[in-house]
Amino acid sequence: MLLEIDNLKLLYGRIEALHGISLHVDQGEIVALIGANGAGKTTTMKAISGLHAISGGSIRFDGADVSRLRADLRVIRGIGQSPEGRGVFPGMTVLENLEMGAYTRKDKADIAKDLAMVFDLFPRLAERRKQAGGTLSGGEQQMLAVGRALMTRPKLLLLDEPSMGLAPKLIQQIFEIITRINEQGTTILLVEQNAQQALSRAHRGYVLETGRIVKEGTGQELLHDPAVKEAYLGVA
Ligand code: ATP
Repeated sequence: MLLEIDNLKLLYGRIEALHGISLHVDQGEIVALIGANGAGKTTTMKAISGLHAISGGSIRFDGADVSRLRADLRVIRGIGQSPEGRGVFPGMTVLENLEMGAYTRKDKADIAKDLAMVFDLFPRLAERRKQAGGTLSGGEQQMLAVGRALMTRPKLLLLDEPSMGLAPKLIQQIFEIITRINEQGTTILLVEQNAQQALSRAHRGYVLETGRIVKEGTGQELLHDPAVKEAYLGVA
């Protein structure tokens, strides 16, 4: 097990947003976390990456308890994140943004290899390597955010809504790239509104409702679950 979350609780002020979540991600998996707006998907990601402190439970990663570890130290241990809303540095070029992803690393030859890999996955970024991040289209910024997360060479890649705001053709493309990244050896935890795509690409998934996991199963089981279909796939 690469990531193991047990009875995780998180407070925003006095309001409990996560009421005791347990989930796990095994080495090599794509796991999807789906749920309606406000269910707590982004909050769960923030707890894992250390961007928000937890109030109870535990997070174990790669054999160690990281529940109270600083966010930057979690990156060094191998938790890479592409945040919702992208978070690209607008004044830096595409290349500089990608290099920022590798700022904790010292292995120059491997960094160059990973940069080549990111440009291979996203030819559009290669073409625009000298362009300022802030002038990229929404879809290109999304690619850049995923590329930057990959430059941390994560053991676990956290993707928060990678398809958000993308045109249908690009959504298809980004999910194909996610599958390729996984096939190349990166374990992925994915938060998505696009439950159809996420569940058809994921090995397993969890359904989150108002801060609780209400269902789990393989991607295929959840895709064919009547309640999931009705609530998240837009078919009765
Ligand atoms: P969406 O799909 O709309 O992004 P989500 O499942 O990612 O939703 P979260 O962003 O995790 O949902 O929010 C979970 C709940 O916590 C929501 O009710 C939200 O209003 C609340 N919340 C999130 N961030 C804060 C905050 N900084 N302060 C107070 N409440 C917050």
